[in-house]
Amino acid sequence: MNTDQLRQELIDYSKEIGIDKIGFASADVFEGLKERLKRQQGLGFQSGFEKGSIEERTEPDRLVPEAKSIISIALAYPSRIKDGPKSTKEERRGVFCRASWGTDYHEVLREKLGKLGEFIKERIPEATTKVMVDTGELSDRAVAERAGIGFSGKNTAIITPEFGSYVYLGELITNLPFVPDTPLEDGCGSCTRCLDACPTGALVQGGQLNAQRCLAFLTQTKDFMPDEFRSKIGNFIYGFDTCQVVCPYNKHVDFHNHPEFEPEPDVAKPKLKPLLRISNREFKNTFGHIAGSWRGKKPLQRNALIALGHYRDATAVDEIIAVMNNDPRPVIRGTAAWSLGKIGTEESFAAIKDAMEKENDEQVLAEMEKGLAFQETVF
Ligand code: SF4
Repeated sequence: MNTDQLRQELIDYSKEIGIDKIGFASADVFEGLKERLKRQQGLGFQSGFEKGSIEERTEPDRLVPEAKSIISIALAYPSRIKDGPKSTKEERRGVFCRASWGTDYHEVLREKLGKLGEFIKERIPEATTKVMVDTGELSDRAVAERAGIGFSGKNTAIITPEFGSYVYLGELITNLPFVPDTPLEDGCGSCTRCLDACPTGALVQGGQLNAQRCLAFLTQTKDFMPDEFRSKIGNFIYGFDTCQVVCPYNKHVDFHNHPEFEPEPDVAKPKLKPLLRISNREFKNTFGHIAGSWRGKKPLQRNALIALGHYRDATAVDEIIAVMNNDPRPVIRGTAAWSLGKIGTEESFAAIKDAMEKENDEQVLAEMEKGLAFQETVF
């Protein structure tokens, strides 16, 4: 079978199995990306979540011997929750970023790419294929850009003309030589909305991100949140998508093409107080199927404490005191103390003082001091 015919059949089949966009790219070395990654590494701008060496991330034939092509796919996800629950004064809610609503996209895209791989193998049994979604070595975005799925925005997202940047990306590397698609022209022009809207200056310049200042990354870390970012995350408990929300290409974009990605309102915007005391089993049952649970419950609980502080939610004081006094994890005890100080009731300051008498952990004690320091701004 010739690959031109197979290419067309794959395009047709991709529609049948619910892939919103497909593109073909060569498997040549990603030279531009290699240079960029080296620069990012030199500047300390990487997140630390990257997999593989720079060579593995930019040379597809290190992953599939004699790789010739990469097939890139995109699936659109919703940007709005229909009849979403409201955060009230009595029951404040956090929010997951849009990419973490609905079932974990890694599974959904892997399944679809697996079907493409089987489709290829049924026709050309000796073909080699390898599937990757997000956690693989290759950059999904660099592949999608080369395959004409979208252009790379100044916010570093891939922006498709059809679905904006609200798309999940994945790819399949193969040793078959498919004719490649043409990359799209850059569409940002003189716009700088995402750079202007980023609250931490993480977008250093168009297309360059300092992951160490990116709130999407910082919400996923497990240690204390650095002070300067605590007031910036608002009620985001996982991820942060302001740089996408402000993008004109995402205006009025809201696709509900896949039942799997339909947000469950109480999961996508969970109540904050119950999160503080959630058991491991309950956490797994409620959040285990969404992408935002991959780091476990600790970062989400830390962020929930920060969000309650952000709301100055006095109805949460008793529960936060219980967390500060009883939680075995220093990051959680310390953040609870900070949050109590931020909420700033007499009861919360008294509780911090009491807890300081018993606390031995130096980092937690330092957070308690920070909590008490809010007293000067309150009284
Ligand atoms: S907000 Fe403007 S500059 Fe940023 S990605 Fe969108 S179009 Fe490009």
